[in-house]
Amino acid sequence: MTTTIGIPDAQATTPRVYGQFIDSVMTEAGDDLIDRYAPGTGRLVARYANGTAGDIERAIAAARRAFDEGPWPHLSGMERGRALLRLAEAMRGNKELLASIEAEEVGKPIRMARGDVDGSIGMFEFAAGLAMNMHGDVHTTSLGDDFTALVAREPAGVAGLITPWNFPLLLLAQKLPFAIGAGCTTVAKPASVTAGTTLEMGRLCNEAGIPSGVYNVVTGGGGTVGRILTESHDVDMISFTGSTEVGRFVIEASKGNLKRVSMELGGKSANIVFDDADLEDAIDGVMFGIFFNTGECCVSGSRLLVQESIADAFLTTLVDRVRRLRVGQPLDDASELGAIVHAEHMGKILEYVEIARHDGSRILTGGERLTGGAYGDGLFLAPTVIDQVRPESRVFQEEIFGPVLAVTRFRDMADAIRLANDVEYGLANSVWTGNIDRALRVARAVRSGTVWVNTTIDGSPQLPGGGIRASGFGREMGQAGFDEFTELKTIQIRTGKRTPFFRG
Ligand code: NAP
Repeated sequence: MTTTIGIPDAQATTPRVYGQFIDSVMTEAGDDLIDRYAPGTGRLVARYANGTAGDIERAIAAARRAFDEGPWPHLSGMERGRALLRLAEAMRGNKELLASIEAEEVGKPIRMARGDVDGSIGMFEFAAGLAMNMHGDVHTTSLGDDFTALVAREPAGVAGLITPWNFPLLLLAQKLPFAIGAGCTTVAKPASVTAGTTLEMGRLCNEAGIPSGVYNVVTGGGGTVGRILTESHDVDMISFTGSTEVGRFVIEASKGNLKRVSMELGGKSANIVFDDADLEDAIDGVMFGIFFNTGECCVSGSRLLVQESIADAFLTTLVDRVRRLRVGQPLDDASELGAIVHAEHMGKILEYVEIARHDGSRILTGGERLTGGAYGDGLFLAPTVIDQVRPESRVFQEEIFGPVLAVTRFRDMADAIRLANDVEYGLANSVWTGNIDRALRVARAVRSGTVWVNTTIDGSPQLPGGGIRASGFGREMGQAGFDEFTELKTIQIRTGKRTPFFRG
């Protein structure tokens, strides 16, 4: 049985209700529902079906059928690319709805949510070009006159796409167009608290004429439907974005059929500010690095490493500006920071503030929940800066995933590099300096998948992103991100007569 996907008015007073999106059909939501209360207002805004083993198995079977029987993997790259462009257009036509759902469900400021939708559309457009140009390689002279070989690039098969709650649409967009552009079929498992836009994408796939079974969505618990997806022998690969802790479970669960996995995991990125940096830019960058998306960002610059000689002056200006940041309702255009995703997460962030106090670090600003007035029943936290955080502190080492900046001072370049690398993560780092030699030396010495110089949290569909060490492996975006969803097949052809190997 089918039902409408959501309510096309994101700010309606009744919650949006979603079933599962399987084989191009949105099923009835049923009675077992996951209720989502907006973190900004405490209002019930969405109800998702709490998926069962049967739901996820049906979705996997639909994707398997669509891959094995086609037509999707057999279409030309031009046809798949055009479908991605139609999907991008459908997203553009629904931009305000998608942005409002993200702002409401995640708690992120609407300004940023609109940017996420634009960024996501860009992923589909870029991946369309890669799909149109998908090709392998040919060997002729490298093998001599007697051989010709084709190295064909083929879709990897059925891909499970598991995403976290902080950028539901954008992180899906870092996977989906690359996967289906390559000819894979997919089953998406969004985070239970922010599944709205992943489900809306089902309706948009139908609008864009994406064939049945190419994109399926199942909502429900990670430990149930997520686990079954990762264990299934009918799934050929898993592209996972989430915490390092759950990433380890996913790797373990995937071993049954040795499916390929790509892991985009947590981070503890540093903004390294040298005394010769453009300090106005650096302050703006440090603030953007930690307060963008209310600090709930894998690449958040959650550590500030600042050179001793400028530290006091830098922090005075920084704190003054941080105090002027506008924390407010996610759907208010003026808000610069929004709400924290849920109460449990708020509690975890505040626990880290307590750890900092206990460690003898200094809370320069923030560190408490904001209540009263416009904050109402929402989950709001004052942007926080903590000085004198020692490397051995959990505040320095662990991912807090909120608007909390940990500050540590360094003496010289060697000290800065040592501190930057003194965590288990390796996702991204930024260096701020006016000296090109210093910038390049630090960029080469820090261990992370991305290094920004005199900028931070910039990105583009052309550039691969991903981590090393406890931040994972595999890449998203760019040609590398597309290739993750493909396999190479070597076809070697002898063009001359065989030289006998055995004499008998
Ligand atoms: P999470 O708890 O690891 O959950 C991520 C996804 O995995 C969710 O859809 C979750 O479902 C699902 N899941 C949970 N247990 C599972 C299992 N046993 N098998 C399969 N799937 C399972 O992460 P989160 O709290 O949503 O997101 C925050 C984390 O994501 C942070 O660590 C952040 O750094 C990381 N992140 C990384 C990147 C990157 O590109 N490197 C980007 C963004 C976020 P439920 O929601 O239903 O539990």
